[in-house]
Amino acid sequence: MLVVKIGGAAGVNLEAVCADIAALTQQGQQVVLVHGGSDETNRLSERLGHPPRFVTSPSGFTSRYTDRATLEIFAMVTAGKINTLLVEALQAKRVNALGLSGIDGRLIEAKRKEAIRAVENGKVRVLHDDHTGTIQAVNARLLHLLLDAGYVPVVAPLALSPEGVALNVDADRAAAMVAGALHADSLILLTNVPGLLRHFPDEDTLIPRLERAGLEASLSFAEGRMKKKVLGASEALERGVQRVILADGRVSEPVQRALAGQGTVIA
Ligand code: ADP
Repeated sequence: MLVVKIGGAAGVNLEAVCADIAALTQQGQQVVLVHGGSDETNRLSERLGHPPRFVTSPSGFTSRYTDRATLEIFAMVTAGKINTLLVEALQAKRVNALGLSGIDGRLIEAKRKEAIRAVENGKVRVLHDDHTGTIQAVNARLLHLLLDAGYVPVVAPLALSPEGVALNVDADRAAAMVAGALHADSLILLTNVPGLLRHFPDEDTLIPRLERAGLEASLSFAEGRMKKKVLGASEALERGVQRVILADGRVSEPVQRALAGQGTVIA
């Protein structure tokens, strides 16, 4: 069982990812694909006259401030366009992909962040009416149902609160929780760098291997968005995933290369 996550950032070779998934599923491997979409959400938000607003928490995490309008744009882009086009690309390769978001069948449940603390101009402010969540549970039964019926689930990073409110969740963390719930052998996080770099952006400083114990320390040289991947890796390993691979999605055969150990392997 394999969970692959592709980022929203430009550069990931989608054709090659789909070709790999086709090859792997033909060999009988069960695969779940999770995707992001934040970059495209930013662009559409601008065009719709509702520019994105990013906030940084006191502990240094940057996230999108998601009011209801932003959540709806996020859903249009991720569950709408990106998810549909990925399913199309996989179906063109005769992979029986099935698109859903974390809202469908209550696939992903998340706790809504009541208020987010943001540092602005050196001061901590509290923002309300945010529609982001921290994932609490993944409906593994639903995924097994689909996988056992031969489908490749393609998952958009939305979730439901216990009250039934749609929330935006981080795609890396969603992939990690999905992998954990399925006890996947491998979680592959594909992005537009070769893996975790000790001195970003110097690609010659790739860290090939990390022990779980070394994850904490690696947070210090991973900036904002890379931090979430490291955090996701740690969550996945805690839940029994055997290894997490942060790997280059720009190359040919990106999934197969990652499985062969290229990138940063965390076990
Ligand atoms: P995706 O959209 O693929 O999930 P992100 O943009 O969220 O990707 O995260 C990957 C980015 O993290 C890289 O493109 C890079 O700009 C940034 N980054 C920050 N620190 C590091 C690091 N130490 N090693 C690798 N990438 C890093």
